Amino acid sequence: MFDCYDLFDEVQLFYVMKWEIRLHGRGGQGVVTASKIIAEAAFAEGYQSQSIPFFGAERRGSPVTAFTRISEHEIRERSQIYHPDYLLILDPLVMRTVDVFQGLKSGGGVVISSPSAIERDVFPNIELTVGLVDGVGVSIRNDLVVAGNPVVNIPAIGAFLRIFPEISIECVEKIVLEKFGNRSVRALYSSYDETEVFRIRGSREKKKEERKKPEKVWIPASKPAKGVAGITGYWRDFRPVIDYGRCTGCLNCWIHCPEGSISRKNGDVEIDYTFCKGCLVCLAVCPRKAISSEREVSA
Ligand code: SF4
Ligand code: SF4
Repeated sequence: MFDCYDLFDEVQLFYVMKWEIRLHGRGGQGVVTASKIIAEAAFAEGYQSQSIPFFGAERRGSPVTAFTRISEHEIRERSQIYHPDYLLILDPLVMRTVDVFQGLKSGGGVVISSPSAIERDVFPNIELTVGLVDGVGVSIRNDLVVAGNPVVNIPAIGAFLRIFPEISIECVEKIVLEKFGNRSVRALYSSYDETEVFRIRGSREKKKEERKKPEKVWIPASKPAKGVAGITGYWRDFRPVIDYGRCTGCLNCWIHCPEGSISRKNGDVEIDYTFCKGCLVCLAVCPRKAISSEREVSA
């Protein structure tokens, strides 16, 4: 059962600003680093922030996704981002294999690193602000080429700052200078200046499954899709175990489980160990301390 502080927490979230950003690119383009830099800059600006990478096949050239959350309030979600406010697409070719626009909110923003204009029918049929920049060109002109590969993540961040005013370019400059030096700072400012910003309503056919839930986040609930990352039960080092003598069935653990591994069956809360990845978020959020952890020992 929630105590009064939990309830206060939930109610507070109703009023706070929060942004979810999803980044798409290919292995070697610095997608994860871009996500971290944005999160770090947001934190320096006084926000709470979070950066989560998601790798498929871990090799150069394969699709890579990363997630950044920025909020005025503590961030409790640990799931992937399914309905982003912003998208950063570091390579337009990724759009051929990944439905990068999936779940994007109407009124949101998109950054695309591309040397040429993007056709209107590529965008979904919603209102969007687009920041278009030739990230590869910016990198080459600023001598930002590593091992023969133009570094496109810094130009993508520069373009993002044009459509996301919550983070100042001066704040990002400090981080980029410390981590990567002057060439990256020059590329950041070049990209910021060269980014073309425009509003668009795409003409791509609407997806059949329109979202039914409201745009606002009412509680800090994850929206996990069970099994989206495969059989995540193999990842576990520790196994959460419920003490049914203490459990009140409040379902706080269910709300926060990033893998959707907790359900209620026949009145009891149950953990699906096929998909439970052992993150122990459930243990941390249980108000009754009804969940403990055991070392996972596989045969
Ligand atoms: S440890 Fe708990 S929160 Fe994490 S995946 Fe397993 S059941 Fe879900
Ligand atoms: S185990 Fe889950 S349902 Fe049971 S008391 Fe803890 S948070 Fe609530």
